[in-house]
Amino acid sequence: METVKDPNVMREKIQKARAESRVVGFVPTMGFFHEGHLQLMRRARSECDIVVVSLFVNPTQFGAGEDFEDYPRDFERDKQMAEKEGVDFLFAPEVEDMYPEGFSTFVEVEGLSKIMCGKYRPGHFRGVATVVTKLFNIVPAHKAYFGQKDAQQLAIIRRMVTDLNIPIEIVGVVTVREPDGLAMSSRNIYLTPEERKAATILYRALKTAVEMIEKGEKDASIIREEMKKLISEEPLVSLEYIEICDNIYLKPLQALSGKVLIALAARVGKARLIDNMLFDLG
Ligand code: AMP
Repeated sequence: METVKDPNVMREKIQKARAESRVVGFVPTMGFFHEGHLQLMRRARSECDIVVVSLFVNPTQFGAGEDFEDYPRDFERDKQMAEKEGVDFLFAPEVEDMYPEGFSTFVEVEGLSKIMCGKYRPGHFRGVATVVTKLFNIVPAHKAYFGQKDAQQLAIIRRMVTDLNIPIEIVGVVTVREPDGLAMSSRNIYLTPEERKAATILYRALKTAVEMIEKGEKDASIIREEMKKLISEEPLVSLEYIEICDNIYLKPLQALSGKVLIALAARVGKARLIDNMLFDLG
């Protein structure tokens, strides 16, 4: 595995691979790898000739007072883990390489960026859309792999590549969970043992929704109320939102049908956690 820091060098390497008819897969990350990240790398490894992983804690997607400075980082550990997965290139630029003096162009996916997590993290998805556009220009891959765990991010990136004619296939990968159901996240490290235990209520609330749907419940407000009630019984967890919507436009649904996304966000101690489930009700 080769580590590349310079965006221009990175692009040249990918252009060369493409000229040699290699299929290039790309996994953008902020590092501090867990099984979720590794799953994306494995999927890319199984479908592509060349696998590129980027590791960049992107300052423009963190709001004032958020955890940019504290975000967990361990470059050496990440490097070893990526190498073990058979990654070809680890792209790890410096902030100055991505945002040199005078940087002033941003990508805004209107509508989708302002709802759900966007309400609680103003500017977050503008930062995500901007850095992902830059990364797609630096790593002109055939396919890019994103986790379903960040369902709103995935919907925004799909919208963005369609709207801006970016020639890359977006592949969504199912959420990897801890044995007790908690969705894996680099931010889980912020949780104290008590908070870590309490955080499982989020998965249990989603499971409750699954059970209700399996029993034939189609009314989104009844499902949401039941989930809210369950989460409110856990004092260490402070719910931000539960949204029941379609997975493309993220439009709230009243009666469930077709592809249904149930997404939530909550604060648990210092951590802001998100989770979701996607159903196909035909
Ligand atoms: P991050 O480093 O947290 O920005 O995540 C990098 C990529 O990994 C994103 O596409 C995430 O959606 C994905 N990801 C994060 N956690 C998980 C998980 N538990 N399961 C699957 N994918 C994940």
